[in-house]
Amino acid sequence: MRMTQLYSTTLREVPAEAEIASHQLMLRAGLIHKVSMGIYTYMPLGWRTLRKIENIIREEMDAYGGQELLMPVVSPADVWQESGRWWVYGKELMRMKDRHERDYLLAPTHEEIITTTVRQDIRSYKQLPLLPYQIQTKFRDERRPRFGVMRCREFIMKDGYSFDRDEEGLAVTYRKMHDAYTNMFTRCGLNFRPVAADSGAIGGEGSHEFMALSEVGESQILFCNHCDYAATDEFASVDPVPTGVGEEMKEIVRVETPNCKTMEQLAELLKVPSDRAVKSLCYVADEKRFILVLVRGDRQVNEVKLNNALDCFELRFATDEEIRAHGMEPGYCGPVGIGEDVEIFADREVPLMVNHECGGVQKDFHLLNVNYQRGDYRIDKIADLALVEAGAKCPICGAPLDSARGIEVGQIFKLHTKYSDKLHCVYVDEAGEEHPMVMGCYGIGVGRTMAAVIEQHHDENGISWPITVAPYEVLIVPVNDKDEWLVEQAENIYRSLGKQGVEVLIDDRKERPGVKFNDADLLGFPIRVTMGKKCHETGNAEIKIRETGEVLEVPVDQVVEKVLELKASMLAALQGPYAWEE
Ligand SMILES: [Zn+2]
Repeated sequence: MRMTQLYSTTLREVPAEAEIASHQLMLRAGLIHKVSMGIYTYMPLGWRTLRKIENIIREEMDAYGGQELLMPVVSPADVWQESGRWWVYGKELMRMKDRHERDYLLAPTHEEIITTTVRQDIRSYKQLPLLPYQIQTKFRDERRPRFGVMRCREFIMKDGYSFDRDEEGLAVTYRKMHDAYTNMFTRCGLNFRPVAADSGAIGGEGSHEFMALSEVGESQILFCNHCDYAATDEFASVDPVPTGVGEEMKEIVRVETPNCKTMEQLAELLKVPSDRAVKSLCYVADEKRFILVLVRGDRQVNEVKLNNALDCFELRFATDEEIRAHGMEPGYCGPVGIGEDVEIFADREVPLMVNHECGGVQKDFHLLNVNYQRGDYRIDKIADLALVEAGAKCPICGAPLDSARGIEVGQIFKLHTKYSDKLHCVYVDEAGEEHPMVMGCYGIGVGRTMAAVIEQHHDENGISWPITVAPYEVLIVPVNDKDEWLVEQAENIYRSLGKQGVEVLIDDRKERPGVKFNDADLLGFPIRVTMGKKCHETGNAEIKIRETGEVLEVPVDQVVEKVLELKASMLAALQGPYAWEE
């Protein structure tokens, strides 16, 4: 492709609406064009990258037994009514009517369509397992679309669905998908972690999120650098580390602590380290239960865990009035002497702590040397309630955990029989008995993967594509278009690389070198061949590696060979770790 023919517009300025690097760079490099809120056109360069990501996904899905098909974007409401999701899904579901006043929707996901398709076609255990998937446009009417294609309304997704005869079959398919996803994201050049996750609204136990590590990610994850352990902070769990264990229990001391409402003030005044204190927080669940939550003083309460332990729908902090109504002074809450109207929930560490400090319930007082084991107070429920933070011990190998933010680029779920039960998707076994098929589902945000790649591969000058997903692999920049010899050499290299199957672009525009170099850095092709003034004198061209900035001087007649060698080594570095298995 020639730059003079390429449909591509680059921008100097950073568009005001774009908050994160990938959104800014996709607009500046002309990869996307905004059509409406959360709705974009992929322009030719952006579309090339998107299709490359799609093809990596296809190759890995096919290699692990997937079969591509294409379902409609428009779904009839009846199958969604049959599963019940027509009523459960909120305003994110784009509903509409046809000319006959029949209800339809723009599908945000396809469990209903695929399950009702399979139930018509598949009768026997002999036809299982099946792993159909599609790569297709979806629509979710997000309230606040933002970050470009990272969180948009219309988006391209790979969604796959597995149908097995039993749980053992699902476990095999699930592990294959775990391997396939690991290969895909490795090949896209992402630094990512598969993370054990909640299955959220889709339902069913067993789920992993594939998180691309990035500061702009919406999830906090904890992971171990010494083993495979990784979890979102909502689910991370480590062994309790109680303090004071082995000490002799001392008499409770009631101390005056005026205007001492925070852990820091208290630690300062009483000279008690915060890990020797118990923090007491008051919550109201479902507007009727009043809960005192106890965690070690240097811990935070994990509200997702608390919510699960309470098995409640709604959870909020209690107001000062509510705290006083339950006999405590805000800022001085504690468990000692608390009535039965308050449910006391404690993190697993608290009952094991010896001689701990806590609030004295009354204004301006705290208690020292409190011990649950001596019966100083009661606990109604002990559960894992603490937020795990970086530095905590890995529950598998004991090394200190690291934490990072992550962009969720893919997720795999075990659905079990959630949809096959509701939609009566069954097969007949050897004995002629009917069973629901055991399902899994496997999603990837294709556009979001592209954005995540840019978040991880850019610098102040622009994008730096991994070669596997670059719109073009090589850019040739002849800087002096008046030098006929030089232009001819550049054209020769261009043609010969093209013939060898290299995706090559030549900047044949009559522009100043500075403009060409700026665009080259912004667009981020992995290999740039520059043929400048010196080229004619020395006979050498410059090959620049975008990612490292490394520059190689190579005789003009050896450029093609060198580029092929570089391309091969870049591709080799981005191979997936798992061997394909069908
Ligand atoms: Zn570990």
